[in-house]
Amino acid sequence: MATAPPLDSTTVASHPRLTDSHGRVIHDLRVSITDRCNYKCVYCRTGEHGAQYPELEIDDYLRLIRVFVGLGITKIRLTGGEPLLRRGLLDLVRELVRLRTVERELLELAVTTNGHLLEELAVPLKDAGINRVTVSMDAVDAPTFERITRVPGSFETVLRGIRAAREAGLTPLKINCVLLRGFNDGQIEGFAHFARRENVVVRFIEFMPLEEGRLWTPEIVVPLKEIVERISRALPLVELPARDSSETARRYGFADGVGEIGIIAPVSQAFCGACSRVRLTSDGKIRTCLFSQVEHDLYGRLRAGASDAELAAYIVHTIAGKEARHHIGEPGFLKPSRSMVHIGG
Ligand code: SAM
Repeated sequence: MATAPPLDSTTVASHPRLTDSHGRVIHDLRVSITDRCNYKCVYCRTGEHGAQYPELEIDDYLRLIRVFVGLGITKIRLTGGEPLLRRGLLDLVRELVRLRTVERELLELAVTTNGHLLEELAVPLKDAGINRVTVSMDAVDAPTFERITRVPGSFETVLRGIRAAREAGLTPLKINCVLLRGFNDGQIEGFAHFARRENVVVRFIEFMPLEEGRLWTPEIVVPLKEIVERISRALPLVELPARDSSETARRYGFADGVGEIGIIAPVSQAFCGACSRVRLTSDGKIRTCLFSQVEHDLYGRLRAGASDAELAAYIVHTIAGKEARHHIGEPGFLKPSRSMVHIGG
C-alpha cells in the first residue's frame, strides 16, 4: 500500500487532486446505497432475483464518502438499485450536507431514482439538502411504461413524483430514458413534447451491455445521430455548448427556445477521455469504470480496522489504475461481473 498522507485539514487542502494515470481528475463519486429495486425493468433485470449484495450501515457509507471528499470529490450522486428504498437515506443526506470540499465549498448532492417514491420524498429530500434529482423513465405512455417496469400503475405514480420534485424546487429536473431499438424507440418524439410540456430536461441514453440477461447487440443501440435527426424532423434542434468538459450529455435546445434535451452516447461517441467518475457499490467496493473486470474492496479495509489515512491511500492507489476507456462493441469485449442495477447507475 502506498504511504498515506495524513488527513488533517491543512494537508488535505494541499493534497493533489484525485488523478488517474491518464491525467483525468476524478471529482464525481456515485454511491449505491442498496442494490434492491422496486422495478424490474425488462432491459435491466431478468426478473428472477432481487438484491445480490449486502448493504453497509449508513455510517459506513458516510465515513467512506468523507474520505473521498477529503481527496477532492466535489459531487456525490446517490443511486442503486433504488436509493429511495433505503432506510436512512435522509439521515445520510443531512450528514453529507455538513461536509465541505477541499476548497471548503458545499458538495453537489444528487439522487438518481425511478421516481416511484418521489411524490412523498421530494420535499423531504429537498429539505435534507439534495440539490438535484434525476428520474429514470423509459416511455411516455402508460402501457409501454408499465410493460417495461413490470409494475402496474407505475406511469402515473412516477409522473406524480416528477411533478412533486419540480414543485419542491429540485430543478432543473432531468429525466433519463434508455432507448432500445424496436422496443421503446417509438417514444423519442413523444419525449421531446414531454420535455417541453413538463418543463424537464429529457436525456436519452444509449443502451450499454450492462443488463442481467443477454439482450445487447450493436443493432439494438439507437445512436445519437439518429435521435437528433428524428426529433429535428418534428421539432428543430440547435446544439448547445457544454457546461463543463466532463459533462456526459450533449445538449440540444429546441429552435423556438422552449425546452432542452440531452443525449448521453457512451457507445457511439464514447466520452471516456473526459471521465471524472468513480463508483462505490452498495457493499463498499470501488469500481473505477462501469466496465471494470476487477473491484477494490474499500469496505473490507474499513472493517479490518484501517484508519482514514489508510483508506485514503488505498483510494489514491486504486484511482491511479482507472481504465483508459471501455471496449463496448470491440472483439473480445467482456461484460463486467455486475449488471447496472448491482453497480449503481
Ligand atoms: N433505480 C434508479 C433509477 O431507476 O434511476 C437508479 C439505478 S438505475 C440502474 C440507473 C440508470 O441506469 C437508469 O436510468 C437505468 O435506465 C439505467 N440503465 C440500466 N441499465 C442500463 C443499460 N444497460 N444501459 C444504459 N443505461 C442503463
